[in-house]
Formats: sequence, C-alpha cells, structure tokens
Amino acid sequence: MPRDFLKGASDEYDVVVIGSGLAGMTSANILGRAGHRVLLLEQHYKLGGLATWFLRPGGHVFDISLHGFPHGMIKSCRRYWSKDISDRIVQLKNIRFDNPQFSLTTTFNREDFTRLLTSDFGIAPETVKEFFDTARGMNFYDDQATTTRQLFDRFFPGRNDVVRLLMEPITYANGSTLEDPAITYGIVFSNFMSKGVFIYEGGTEDLVARMKKELISNGVDIRINCPVDEIEVAGGKVSAVKTHGRRIACKAVVSNANLRTTLLKMLGPEKLDRDYVDRASGVRLNNSSTQVYMALKEGEEIDESSGDLFFTSTAKDFRTDLLLSRDITSRTFSFYYPKTRPQKDKKRFAIVSSTNANWSDWADLNEQDYEASKEDLIETTLDALSRYLPDIRSKIDRVEAATPKTFHHYTQHEMGASFGTKFEGLSVSRELPQQIGGMYHAGSVGIIMSGWLGAINYGVIVSNEVDQQLTQESSHT
Ligand SMILES: Cc1cc2nc3c(=O)[nH]c(=O)nc-3n(C[C@H](O)[C@H](O)[C@H](O)COP(=O)(O)OP(=O)(O)OC[C@H]3O[C@@H](n4cnc5c(N)ncnc54)[C@H](O)[C@@H]3O)c2cc1C
Repeated sequence: MPRDFLKGASDEYDVVVIGSGLAGMTSANILGRAGHRVLLLEQHYKLGGLATWFLRPGGHVFDISLHGFPHGMIKSCRRYWSKDISDRIVQLKNIRFDNPQFSLTTTFNREDFTRLLTSDFGIAPETVKEFFDTARGMNFYDDQATTTRQLFDRFFPGRNDVVRLLMEPITYANGSTLEDPAITYGIVFSNFMSKGVFIYEGGTEDLVARMKKELISNGVDIRINCPVDEIEVAGGKVSAVKTHGRRIACKAVVSNANLRTTLLKMLGPEKLDRDYVDRASGVRLNNSSTQVYMALKEGEEIDESSGDLFFTSTAKDFRTDLLLSRDITSRTFSFYYPKTRPQKDKKRFAIVSSTNANWSDWADLNEQDYEASKEDLIETTLDALSRYLPDIRSKIDRVEAATPKTFHHYTQHEMGASFGTKFEGLSVSRELPQQIGGMYHAGSVGIIMSGWLGAINYGVIVSNEVDQQLTQESSHT
C-alpha cells in the first residue's frame, strides 16, 4: 500500500503554505509562531526548495545555492528564525575575479570597491561616491523605466571593464541583465555593498534542520511528498487545497510555488480577472542555471588563497547574453573549506561551479545528447578549473552536473527558473489577494524578492498580511 504522507493531518487549517522554499518556510514559521494553525505542504521529499543540499556516496554533501548573500540575512534570521541560525552567518572575505579585462581580490563592500574603482580603474572619487549613493537611494517606488545599462552609461560611459566588475556578480546572484530596470540592480547591489558577502556556516543541511526544528516548535504541521494540484475557491475566497486527492480546508493559502504555476495551473485562469490573467501570462521567467559539483578525496585539500567565491570568464568583454550561453565562458566557483562549511567529524573540501543558463539549451535534447552535454559540461569545467588548480583532476573523488532540467525536476519551477520571475512578476504577485480573498504568493519574483534574503523577506511581508487577515476574521466571529 502506498505510504500516506498526510496520515494524521487535520481536514482544516487556518493557513496552508504550498512549498518549503525560504519564503514558504519563513511565512509558515511566522504564522505558526503567531498562533495560527499552519500546514506546510512540500512536493519534494526534502525541505528548503532551492536552498537545499544532497548527499552522495563517500559522505559527500553538496549545497545547491549556498554561495553568498547580503549581511541583511543576519537580521532577518535573528528576527524571524532564531539566534542560533543568525549566529552561524559569517562573512566571505576573499572574493576573486579573473577575466581578460582584470584580475583582482576584494572583500566586496563599498569601501573596498571604492578603493578598486578609484585606484585600479581610475574613476574619479566623486563619480564613485555619486554612483554608490544613487544605487543605495533606489527603492521600489522609483522610476522603473531606467535600465541598468542606462545607469552604467550615466556614470561610467564606455567603461565595459567597470560594468563587468559591478554587474557580473549581480547577474550571477539573481540572473538580472543590463536590460532589467536599474532599481533591481541598485537594490541588490547596495544590499551586498553594505557589508560584503555572507554565508551560512554549517551548510544547508544544518540550516534546514534548524528551521525544521523551529517550525515544529511553533506548531507547524510539515508534510513532504505532498504536491498541491489545485487550490479551491468559493465565493471569491480561497476555501481549500487538494493534494493526494484529499481536500484540506483553509482560510488562507500562501503559495511558494512559481508565480505562473500558482496562477495559471493551481488556481486556473477561470478564477481570475481577464486582465490579470493576461498580465500573469506575460510575466517572463528568470533564467536557470547549470552547476558542476566537485568533492575532493578525503585527505586532499585546496589552499584557502584560492578564494571563497571566484568569478572567472574567458570572454574578451562583458555581455550578459554570453553569461547565459551554452558555449560557456563564465563560471563562478564556490570553494567550500572545512572552516566555512564544516561537516560532521570530517575535514572535507568541495567546489561548485555555477553558470546561468537557458532552459532552451537543455530541454529538447534527447536522452543521449543530454547525457553527452552534461559530460561535456563537467569536462570543460574541470579544464577551466585546472587553469587555476593544475592538479585538481587527481584530487577529485566525485563530480556531477545539474542542468535547468534538474532544477525543474526538483522544484517544479517552469523552465527550471532559479530566480523566479522578471520585474513585472512583483506587482502580479502583490495583487493576488485582491483577485481572490485569502490567496497570497510568496516566492522569488521581480528579481528584488529572489535570492536567499529576498525570498525570506518576501515571506515576512506576506505572512504579516495573512496574519492581519486571520486576526481580523477571528475578531468578527
Ligand atoms: C544554482 C543556484 C544558485 C543560487 N545561488 C544563490 C546565492 O548564492 N545566493 C542567493 O541569495 N540565492 C541564490 N540562489 C537563489 C535562491 O536559492 C532562491 O532565490 C531562493 O532559495 C528561492 O526561494 P523561494 O522561497 O522563492 O522558493 P524555492 O526555493 O524556489 O522553493 C519553492 C518550493 O515550492 C515547492 N513546490 C513547487 N510546487 C509545489 C506544489 N505544487 N506543491 C507543493 N510544493 C511545491 C518546491 O518543491 C520548492 O520546495 C541560487 C539558485 C540556484 C538555482
């Protein structure tokens, strides 16, 4: 008999959260802590969404998206999770770049970037200051028509090398391009520049285990292997979700699944206004990624001078289309040392290479070509890494690749989107409760609300709205 993943679950909750990505789990935690009855349904057998990990023979643990996030995570985790989570967030101080235009090492904060831009790149200090102040002053309500390219043209005309320094890590961090609104760049860039790049010490398995413990202590009913197929609406209000053929009634739903999937599949266009459906249908997805995971043999080491995050490229100059091309020129290497990413009783080193990627370059390959393409991705990545670590091939114990299809498989995100949707997704996501009472979306949208910090913060914003709704409803009964 198939296992009943809903065994003991109630037939009714205050809120059902669909998906256990960082936004979903954060919403569930805040709502549980506020005393609401919360059910968290995750279709995968693991929690965390893209912020998760996997274990391979030999005891190798690989993180999928633990590369770097802004300092703001410390505050968000302390407030909305726990002190023991926020205390494990540490700075990565050794960020490297190597490309035909420049090679440098930085702590990736405003002070150090000011030093680099003025001394190495010869930009006037007043221009650098004005650029930083402009980026930091940007917020959601600003002019949304200016593109990132126009912002750079204003401050650094003709300086493709400067654009590369300022943009390459952000494109890597959230998939944004020079054609996206400048505010999506300004907000994320300034978040990083405030204090640098941070990481969770202990790895994703430790983080997710602590989050799970916190959720349980706040009374959240967590169910894995539970895909939600349908969200039921009655009288213009959310009434239930359906999973494994079972109907679970609720007063509110927070969907952490991809925005388009939530609206066009789980809810269905017939339940929404036509204009809204048109806008939802027009929301563009952000790109996906490829990754190559490499674990070293026990006893083998990498020198810490290799850096923490290493942005490499062989492209002559900076073009965002090249960052997505299957003909890979740019790779970002994350180096995991026992210090920044300890593993139980083991002194292990791992490297993950990430490159943004297009779904279309992988989706239609037949099985044989897909496997060959993955093999090619692994081999070319090892070649690229050998330029910096000549003996790396002999040190590696395990290597494997993930593609946009892998991300789609594990998250159900359309086209394997690793950073949700483009900017227009944000207003569509925000307006959902006006379309259907009690229906909310909290997950990577609009570039600003993607990434670890963006997703957690979006979960916070939405949970406050749900809390208000539920509190109001209970005071009327
Ligand atoms: C390769 C890669 C590297 C990255 N690197 C970084 C980085 O260095 N720094 C950073 O800040 N961010 C990084 N990110 C982005 C970051 O991981 C994500 O933006 C963030 O984790 C997304 O969180 P989320 O809450 O939007 O949900 P997701 O993590 O997207 O999770 C959504 C969840 O919903 C579940 N779900 C979907 N449909 C259903 C359904 N019908 N029923 C039930 N459950 C469902 C999925 O299984 C999933 O668990 C990276 C992403 C990738 C792919």
